[in-house]
Amino acid sequence: MKKNIFIDILSGKSKADIVYKDKYVTAFNDINPVTPVHILVIPNIYIKNLNYINNNHVILLGKMLLASSKIVYIKNIYKSGYRLVINCNKHSGQEIDYLHLHILGGCFLGKMINL
Ligand code: AMP
Repeated sequence: MKKNIFIDILSGKSKADIVYKDKYVTAFNDINPVTPVHILVIPNIYIKNLNYINNNHVILLGKMLLASSKIVYIKNIYKSGYRLVINCNKHSGQEIDYLHLHILGGCFLGKMINL
């Protein structure tokens, strides 16, 4: 597999500002935050993106959401509000081929899409 920064973070080869870790997921601050709180939650096993999930991943996906709900509490944005985003492929702007969930918060986010 070609070099993947999130795999390197998980293995400890690359540094990240880890804010949460358990048996299923790891979460760290985004290196280029777009909001005051911008955290990425990734599974501890490799999944390329949402197109590659199957029944075996159901618990893991739930764990990603559960971890997010703990993190927003730790970061004290659970009351003010936040947004969870998962990008997939070109039209979403997905840069890193490793399933990850963005937690965005700490400021007014506005409407997601202005239609
Ligand atoms: P996406 O566009 O959904 O693929 O998001 C990838 C995110 O990973 C971007 O918000 C990047 O800023 C972030 N990112 C890239 N490299 C790192 C890194 N070494 N540590 C933390 N976040 C990173």
